Parts: sequence; structure tokens; C-alpha cells
Amino acid sequence: MKRISFIHRLLDLISPRICAVCGRRLAVTEDIVCASCNLHLPRTGFSVDAYDNEMARLFWVLLPIERAAALIYNQPHSQAAAMIYDMKYHNQPETAELMGSMMADEMMGDGFFDGIDLLIPVPLTRKRERQRGYNQSYEMAKGISEKTGIPIASDVVQRVSFTESQTHKNRYERQENVKGSFRLTNGTRISGKHVMLVDDVVTTGATIIACGQELVKAGNVKISVVCLGFSKE
Ligand SMILES: [Zn+2]
Repeated sequence: MKRISFIHRLLDLISPRICAVCGRRLAVTEDIVCASCNLHLPRTGFSVDAYDNEMARLFWVLLPIERAAALIYNQPHSQAAAMIYDMKYHNQPETAELMGSMMADEMMGDGFFDGIDLLIPVPLTRKRERQRGYNQSYEMAKGISEKTGIPIASDVVQRVSFTESQTHKNRYERQENVKGSFRLTNGTRISGKHVMLVDDVVTTGATIIACGQELVKAGNVKISVVCLGFSKE
């Protein structure tokens, strides 16, 4: 049983923390998500088998990947999917950061972050980031970085073109849609390194492939991928 300090209880009384998934008030012994949501989160378990899993297979052939994992499945109409949606579109950068620390906590035990030199959040276009006020992938990377001590590099790759929404496109169309939308801006920073791309949701893998193919141009780069949600098509 976790010991809860007096100061911890007092802080909880003054500013109650809420569950990142259901929004109910957290008990003093709970962290980030409540016990019930924690029990029902559809975890993928991918980090145990980080080279060969459903998501990693999307990248084979197109992009050499060392490790790839998502924390949870992004199932349509689920509470977890609603949380991810809010995290992106409803001004909730704190949720993204909390999810990042949860991802780190749960995947570190599998050695998933071992030997990673830099975390690279998948960038948004400048326009999109200005509209939203933050990049959810950067916020997630912050949460991961705090737990693992791995630094974040956000000056390595840029998103240049404004691509159309991917929602109603098939795998091939998505691949075409994102092609050429990233540009390597600081290759020397990652050459000889093992970098990990951080993204919120992976569906077809098209965005990661387009971004990763730019990183490869730096030469002698190892690439891994971590994301919060994996949507099965
Ligand atoms: Zn909850």
C-alpha cells in the first residue's frame, strides 16, 4: 500500500485532480487515470515485442524501424478515443503530457527506451500549431522525457505543406497525401544516433513513414516509434 503524506492529502483537498479519461475526481492513491479507467484501458502490449507487432509491421519494407509501440488501441466510440480526441482538439496539452509519462512508466520495464538518444515529436505545420496553441506530440514527448531523461529534439524536422485531412482516405491515398510534407532541417544532430519519433495516433503509418524517410536522409540513423493510440483499420 502506497503511503500518502499529509501534504499530498492537503494538496489534493485544495486542488482535486481528475481522471484523464473519464474526468471523475481521482482518489488520493490514484495517478493520472482512475482505477476503473485504468482497468479498462485497451492496452496493446506492443512494447513487449517491439520489433514484431501489428503496428511495427506497417513500417517494414518502407522504413527500417528498430522498435515500435502504442500504449493503447484507439477504438472508435471508446472513452479512450474520446480522451485522445479532446487531447488534440479541445485545448488539453496537460492530458498529452500526462499520457506521455504514463507511456514511459509502462514501457520502460520492457527496455523500450533503452539506448534512445533523442525524442522527436512529429511536427505540425506552423499554421496548425498556431491555431491549436500546442503540438500534442511535443507535450507527450515532454512527459516521456521527464521520466526517462531522454532529451527532446524539435529542430530536426519540419512539416512544410498543409495536407488535407486523412480521415476519409485509404492507405494508398494517405501515403500520397503526406509525401513531401516533411523536411529534414538538422541532419547532423541525428546522424549516428538512435531517435524515437513520438506521435499521438498511428493508423496507416503514412505520416510516420513520410517523416521517417526524411530522417533517414541524415545517414546512419536508427529509428523507433512510440505513440499513444493505434487505430486498426
Ligand atoms: Zn476514470
